[in-house]
Amino acid sequence: MQKILTYLVLILLSAGSLSQEPEKVIASIFEESLTDTTAYNHLRYLCKNTSGRLAGSSASLKAIEYTRQALIDAGSDTVWLQKVIVPHWVRGFEECRIFSSEMGEYDLSVSTLGLSTGTDLEGIKAEIIEVHDFNKLKDLGRNRIEGKIVFFNRPVDNRLINTFAGYGGAVNQRISGAAEASRYGAAAVIVRSVTQSLHDFPHTGTTHYPDDIKKIPAVAVSTVDADLLSCWLKKDPTLTVRLLTTCKTLPDTTSFNVIGEIRGYLKPEEYITVGGHLDSWDITEGAHDDAGGCVQAIEMIRIYRSLGIKPKRTIRAVMFMNEEISTTGGKTYAEEAFRKGEKHYAALESDRGVMSPRGFGFDASGPRLEKLQSLAKYFVPFNIRDFDPGGGGSDIAPLKPLGALQIGYIPDVQRYFFYHHSANDTFEQVNIRELQLGSAAIASLIYLIDLNDY
Ligand SMILES: [Zn+2]
Repeated sequence: MQKILTYLVLILLSAGSLSQEPEKVIASIFEESLTDTTAYNHLRYLCKNTSGRLAGSSASLKAIEYTRQALIDAGSDTVWLQKVIVPHWVRGFEECRIFSSEMGEYDLSVSTLGLSTGTDLEGIKAEIIEVHDFNKLKDLGRNRIEGKIVFFNRPVDNRLINTFAGYGGAVNQRISGAAEASRYGAAAVIVRSVTQSLHDFPHTGTTHYPDDIKKIPAVAVSTVDADLLSCWLKKDPTLTVRLLTTCKTLPDTTSFNVIGEIRGYLKPEEYITVGGHLDSWDITEGAHDDAGGCVQAIEMIRIYRSLGIKPKRTIRAVMFMNEEISTTGGKTYAEEAFRKGEKHYAALESDRGVMSPRGFGFDASGPRLEKLQSLAKYFVPFNIRDFDPGGGGSDIAPLKPLGALQIGYIPDVQRYFFYHHSANDTFEQVNIRELQLGSAAIASLIYLIDLNDY
């Protein structure tokens, strides 16, 4: 009897909080976020104490334990680790020196691409040939390419306002350059970093080799040194490069997604997932990509608890593992949801950095999109105005077949690729207010999405 009474009181209390005007709830969410430093402190810890937390690394295990505790402290009803199988690639020593009879020697600023194969301890010494696209490889043919190091130097198109479109227009050199050059017998590849910035940081990322391709080493070079190399090549087309990289791919290993949830009071069997990815590249603190997204998800739980907001549905904060190499965290999460027959109502990912919030993208159309876009009115006081079609993220995409509405958090992205996958993505590059505003925007949107059916 006591239990039933407690339950009834709880329902009435929840109904009380929900009967508040949404505008007031949202104002209180922003107030809470803007006057609390918990998320910022979590970000500092992840950046400074678990830097380079690539899947399989000891830093990633430390990040898993830290965020597990952070989710408990935030007030989750339940927190658990979900086992994920991950690749285990490790960087070794790397050096890329150019030799010119006219200009002398120079060490390029490089970073080996993830999943790249290594060289032996002598390295590879070869002539270099610059190209801007895969068609040029075809034109040159095996005769001109065999045994050489191919230098992919197509820059990102800086005229594009959508920086993700700019990135998308150049990233095939990094992802498939090694495989394409290998088809013509190249010895290795050097790829211009995929960034709008002209600076000394190399930007890494994965490279993929199809099964039928001989794996050749692949490194990214900073944009400044890509320009220098191109300039030297014009003056001395016979210059040579010695590339040494002792990276290795070890056997797959076990890692974890970290999940915390608040049970819904009305529809606990329906789930809303909010997440970022906990892994980062090994050469970076991974502040914007994507410790920021993780701490924003944890912050949603903390804000709900602190303000006594009771969700109708079960809301989860998920730190996905291994987004960077092969997204096994996101796939495992969706597979388990499918196996358990869970109903996934919506999923939001924050993985575009944590600069000032601009809005959200929704994978919806027609009247459903219009209904979602009508929520924009609640965000006008906070200068958040973009409610656009098209949205999601690579970790939540596998939830789409389960019916989850896909939502992408959209901050301002003009600076994102100045940091992305490089040692420049540090804690100091995150502004506390921009992070807080983003956390508040996400918690507010989830509150509104949960209020009704979309
Ligand atoms: Zn990311």
